[in-house]
Amino acid sequence: MKKGIHPKYYQTTVRCACGFEFPTGSTQENIRVEICSKCHPFFTGKQKLIDSTGQVERFVKRYAKFNKNAEADAAQE
Ligand SMILES: [Zn+2]
Repeated sequence: MKKGIHPKYYQTTVRCACGFEFPTGSTQENIRVEICSKCHPFFTGKQKLIDSTGQVERFVKRYAKFNKNAEADAAQE
């Protein structure tokens, strides 16, 4: 290895916002992440939807009305 061109390599711990930690090697001493494989919805199977604009709520409301009409139509037949 050439001297003076390699960054320092640390044995460090990655800490996630959910509390999970795991050891790794990195050129950074402390690593903090917001999401990891223990808490990401893809791995947990739980849905964590952030609906900040209320779009989903509006859709559900509109669709509920549509369903009611469909039931009423079915009753008339
Ligand atoms: Zn996590």
